Amino acid sequence: MHQLTPYVPGEQPKISNLIKLNTNENPFGPSPKVLNAIEIETGNSLRLYSDPTSERLVKSIARYYQLKPQQIFVGNGSDEVLAHTFQALFQHGKPLLFPDITYSFYPVYCKLYGIEAETIPLNENFEIDVNHYNRPNGGIIFPNPNAPTGHGLELDAIEALLKNNPDSVVVIDEAYIDFGGTSAVVLIEHYPNLLVIQTLSKSRSLAGLRVGFAMGNAELIKGLTRVKDSFNSYPLDTIAISGACAAIEDKTHFEYTRKQIITSREQLAAQLKALGFNIIPSQANFLFITHPQHDAAGLAGHLRVRNIIVRYFNKPRIDQYLRITIGTADECKALVTALQDIVNE
Ligand SMILES: *Cc1c(COP(=O)(O)O)cnc(C)c1O
Repeated sequence: MHQLTPYVPGEQPKISNLIKLNTNENPFGPSPKVLNAIEIETGNSLRLYSDPTSERLVKSIARYYQLKPQQIFVGNGSDEVLAHTFQALFQHGKPLLFPDITYSFYPVYCKLYGIEAETIPLNENFEIDVNHYNRPNGGIIFPNPNAPTGHGLELDAIEALLKNNPDSVVVIDEAYIDFGGTSAVVLIEHYPNLLVIQTLSKSRSLAGLRVGFAMGNAELIKGLTRVKDSFNSYPLDTIAISGACAAIEDKTHFEYTRKQIITSREQLAAQLKALGFNIIPSQANFLFITHPQHDAAGLAGHLRVRNIIVRYFNKPRIDQYLRITIGTADECKALVTALQDIVNE
């Protein structure tokens, strides 16, 4: 156990009046229908175990994406779904490929499950080049859009990757897909080696409910279910199942809030550009930015003094960047005002 290097989540400080732009939470809150569904469950059925197959939720997701229930796997947050994916689908003796700059839980799961990893550098524009993945591998994984860059890949690039790696499981982690990317779900029927993972934490504003899911060929789903049933029979509680169904079914709230975030993102990007920041074009609910004259760690420190927290990664290639979550209009305004002061000081 001493060899494990745990994932370090963004902070959740207990400070009031904090402008919290560090962990890509959604500022809008979930659909009111979710809260209603949860309230009904608290009066009803907590005495009983939850449905071990989460059938209602599986069916709800299947309907939403026009897939079969056998093509859906649900878990306690997509982090848990990812963990089962690493254990069930990536144990091969050949390295798992993922970008050098990406979701930092991937190397953690590799260590936990003893999976060899090989990182593939993003190109000089911080983009994934799928041609760099044509090499022997025991699987491929990356987020689309990538994190923490926000850069999205077109569907034809993902299709080329699937064609070039027919014997590998290719996992596309779509945690941020609803903020402007194109989902690879439509490729599932043609590529049995594709697994798409999504979460309700970001675009459905339910990070605290802990619901994630995977979609793919029924054989891949069976593999995940085998691991899940050897680990925890009831990963989703009754409240999570009910709330998640209501979230998936309320398309109006979903469309309204995600469009708001996309609009705010483009406004914020323009304002930060005017302050001299360079910004990676983002299809996510965050911006990845750098300033040619101001040290990123220094900027994060100055923002913190003003009660604004953003994410800073002290890692090679990105140690001059900040990842900033798109907040409410007021939060974005406060951020711009603060950065204006700091940059002009
Ligand atoms: C947020 C995030 C997750 C984890 O989501 P949960 O469902 O909250 O566990 C997974 N992958 C990426 C790339 C993320 O940014």
